[in-house]
Amino acid sequence: MTLAERLNALALHTPMMQQYLRLKAQNPDILMFYRMGDFYELFYEDAEQAARRLDLTLTKRGDSAGLPIVMAGVPVHALEGYLAKLVKAGLSVAIAEQVGEVGAGKGPVDRKVTRVVTPGTVTDAALIDATQDGWLAAVWLEHGSAEVIALNVASGRAQAQKVPSAQLLELLTRWNVKETLVAAGKTDAESRLPGVTRVDVAAFDAQIGAQRAQALGAADFTPGACRALAAAWGYVAKAHGLSAAGPTHIATIERASAEAAIAIDAAARRNLELTQTLAGEREPTLLSTLDGCVTAGGSRLLRERITAPFANQAFARARHHAIATLLAQEQAPILPAQPLPLTPKRAHEALAHFSDIERIAARIALNTVRPRELAGLRDTLVKVPSAQIAFGALPDAFLTQCADELHISPKWADALARAIAPEPAIAVRDGGVIADGFDAELDELRAIQNGNSTFLLELETRERERTGIPNLRVAFNSVHGFYIEITNSHADRVPVEYKRRQTLKNMERYITPELKAYEDRALAAQDRALAREKFLFENLLAALQPAVPALQSAARAIAELDVTSQFAKLAQRGGWTQPTFVNYPHLEMKQARHPVVETLVGTFVPNDCVLSAKQPFALITGPNMGGKSTFMRQTALVTILAYAGAFVPSAQFAVGPIDAVLTRVGASDDQASGRSTFMVEMSEAAAILHQATPHSLVLIDEIGRGTSTFDGLALASAIARALIAKNRALTLFSTHYFELTTLAAQFASCFNVHVSAAEVGERVVFLHEVKPGPASKSYGVEVGRLAGLPAEVIRTARRELERMEAHMRETSPQADLFAAHDAHESAPKVHNTPNPVIERLRGIDVDALSPRDAHALLDQLIQAAKEK
Ligand code: ATP
Repeated sequence: MTLAERLNALALHTPMMQQYLRLKAQNPDILMFYRMGDFYELFYEDAEQAARRLDLTLTKRGDSAGLPIVMAGVPVHALEGYLAKLVKAGLSVAIAEQVGEVGAGKGPVDRKVTRVVTPGTVTDAALIDATQDGWLAAVWLEHGSAEVIALNVASGRAQAQKVPSAQLLELLTRWNVKETLVAAGKTDAESRLPGVTRVDVAAFDAQIGAQRAQALGAADFTPGACRALAAAWGYVAKAHGLSAAGPTHIATIERASAEAAIAIDAAARRNLELTQTLAGEREPTLLSTLDGCVTAGGSRLLRERITAPFANQAFARARHHAIATLLAQEQAPILPAQPLPLTPKRAHEALAHFSDIERIAARIALNTVRPRELAGLRDTLVKVPSAQIAFGALPDAFLTQCADELHISPKWADALARAIAPEPAIAVRDGGVIADGFDAELDELRAIQNGNSTFLLELETRERERTGIPNLRVAFNSVHGFYIEITNSHADRVPVEYKRRQTLKNMERYITPELKAYEDRALAAQDRALAREKFLFENLLAALQPAVPALQSAARAIAELDVTSQFAKLAQRGGWTQPTFVNYPHLEMKQARHPVVETLVGTFVPNDCVLSAKQPFALITGPNMGGKSTFMRQTALVTILAYAGAFVPSAQFAVGPIDAVLTRVGASDDQASGRSTFMVEMSEAAAILHQATPHSLVLIDEIGRGTSTFDGLALASAIARALIAKNRALTLFSTHYFELTTLAAQFASCFNVHVSAAEVGERVVFLHEVKPGPASKSYGVEVGRLAGLPAEVIRTARRELERMEAHMRETSPQADLFAAHDAHESAPKVHNTPNPVIERLRGIDVDALSPRDAHALLDQLIQAAKEK
């Protein structure tokens, strides 16, 4: 039975199920958690889905409309854990709470959906990743283009961009969009977008959007952008139960544009392993290697910088200067009575243990902040002024500008210090959140509760006098409540109206009508104290609202300072240098290293790379495992680092404007879209040929391998020629097709380099050095041997290789190609002149030897080698 059918037969259901179905009708597509006492219950299809995802037990109970109700439930206290799982899986949840009083009326207690948790709107610290931003996007598709508005509720940011529909998926992936709102019933084409939620087209209201755009300082938005804005804004307002004004902590909207950042498309992000390894792991990646940020906001900003580096050289340059300034502090003299120089390490120390102000500010605005987050904010605000002074004193415009933004009126720190208990409880409902001394009424209620009010002291004095028992004591414990305690030695003096409450070894505890009345009041005081705390906490939140904008800009500045300090530390630790920018197509690095591989291998061999406007195309040949990929990737990573505002692992680096980093690397199936490895390879190549300009950095690591040799070679050659003659992009093109090395003779803008290897007998040693000229061999067979192919297979392969090479020399017009390359091969060749041992080895037919003979022969050979 479907929801619609159940709704049609509403009258047949029990009153409670009628209420459930009405609420469910408002949220038909998402799971509904329906509060029943100490559990949240799910019914029907929701129950089945939740049981599968959360490993819950499905039960059937009672019946409604003549059928049993399928249900599954989770205990109230465990809700957050289950929500986290569902949100992570991309599902949304509506939570229907009991809002009326239990037993107040005849029917079921009133319930309302008080919270909707969706992957794109969730802000709860327990449900989202502290180190990366997730976004909600609303998309309006029209005339082949998409107007995209993305909101980040957790950090209070908004972005807008218009892209051709074909680039929509790419944009949403780059922004890390967790949920995409599209108008229901428009098209089906968008089903591949991340976390699609279809909303009524009425929510895409151009007029409402225009008003909102105006408020955000974007009065010039197109009607399409206004529609998307209205949908996103309304959706967030509904999810968080906000008034029509919506998430007011989002006060401006950033206009992203294709020109603002260097375009690094999904393939490049993946291939360069910026934030994820090719295997989908979090490390080792560029991000994991660089991220030593001390704040969560810093880690988020670092991720943003390396996935979307500045296209504008001035922005990156300002940060380079800031890093140089911090590094120069190492040489600054230590002066008496002056603060110590702000070295990179001390810069980080000045920001350490800051809480996540950006997200806390958002949660203040949404009225969902937790007491402990406010305590964290309080403790952070105390430290901010000294960081402001320290960074503000440095001779650098970027650092002092950030320091200025750290200014937050001290009244907010004061307000929090006065209002919030030193170590508040997790939730307001637990009490103990508001500090003692903040509110007289609360103090009095707490005094009554804890039994340390003046009434009890008076009672004790009075009763001692009346009974003549000098050690009579009035006291309280949480199990037995209030009591009058009398030791057994005075048992004969206990007045008759004392009622025994508890007997201990040497004493009895009593209660009197008067004390009982007091106890009742005290218990009532507990409830009143909790209510009072809730009221005070809400007032505090209301009072804190005006602080939100200042907190947001301070948070952004803290993240910038954190990233800059981290870049300075990396520069210091790895001897990284300041890049220089030029304004023409150029890329020149000396002694560059791969920032990640360098940390994984014992000794890393640095390399140079020069791509100029005259010679932008380098063709790289060399053995398998020689280091071609590493060399190409390091060129891209160093470039990305420079434009991310960092120093670089290179003795020198000069680079011109870069508009995009485009890659075709490795082999991967794209099973989601049903494309084969070769198809993916060709699509990536096509994308590069369409996009690359003289300002693009293009890496092509093997092309044309997944097809027949001749098809592959033909395609590789044609693609290389197009890049050289048409795109003229700064290109590193690696290949095992040695035939392509002749391109350098045909095009002045193309040149050959190779990664070197040395032959030791039949073995090969990879030197990882990049040298001018083409290579001669791939040593593929040797790599196969290293990889553990059976000896027999290797022997056959060697014979085959020799045969084919001989055949080529005889038949190919390029017969001399390999010989010619040998002239360029500058790797030292060991054992160039054959010696007797080798001569002897050549004559051996291993397959004909018995193990015993082989052993004896080996022995002889060793002796012969020793004698030589
Ligand atoms: P293939 O043609 O088989 O794809 P490749 O030439 O692209 O091989 P890489 O993957 O770049 O080779 O390098 C292979 C390994 O060699 C790396 O994993 C790394 O351990 C090591 N290596 C590469 N470059 C260097 C270097 N410059 N210094 C030290 N080690 C290096």
